[in-house]
Amino acid sequence: MKIDLTNIPSEGKKADFRLTPDWWRPDPDEDRIVGLEGPLSAWIKIYPAGKKIVVEGFLSTRLLLRCDRCLEPYSWDLSTDFRIYLSISPFKGELEVELSEDDLDLDFIDGNLLDPDQIIKEQIILNVPVKTLCTRECKGLCPICGCNLNMTRCSCSLRDKKSFH
Ligand SMILES: [Zn+2]
Ligand SMILES: [Zn+2]
Repeated sequence: MKIDLTNIPSEGKKADFRLTPDWWRPDPDEDRIVGLEGPLSAWIKIYPAGKKIVVEGFLSTRLLLRCDRCLEPYSWDLSTDFRIYLSISPFKGELEVELSEDDLDLDFIDGNLLDPDQIIKEQIILNVPVKTLCTRECKGLCPICGCNLNMTRCSCSLRDKKSFH
């Protein structure tokens, strides 16, 4: 469901979302995110503020992330609110609104239509840690045999492991 930005009443528009895990499409550029482990609930409110349009919202879900060290998926809870300001450039004609926002690539805007799914997706990506770790103590993979050192102890010698680095 897309929202027409040329038609926002002064009191704003609000939409609630409840998305199931299959909503998430794996993104090859974001391989830290395996997917959603549970449903995602969110709301978005859009309202005009002077020459800007404010997009305000909240989302909450449980994600499945991939650990940087051991490559195993682990659960990670995310609850975040967000606020995005869109500038309205001079009207082109009566209905067309031109939007600009320096800090963001406006993937979630298509003409005058705003795509809430895309906003939610971008907010998830923005909030996931750059360095994902299943636990602070994650031992990672053995650099020699590749086994997961959190689960097994391999027979590769410590000396060999060190010299590998
Ligand atoms: Zn790990
Ligand atoms: Zn090993």
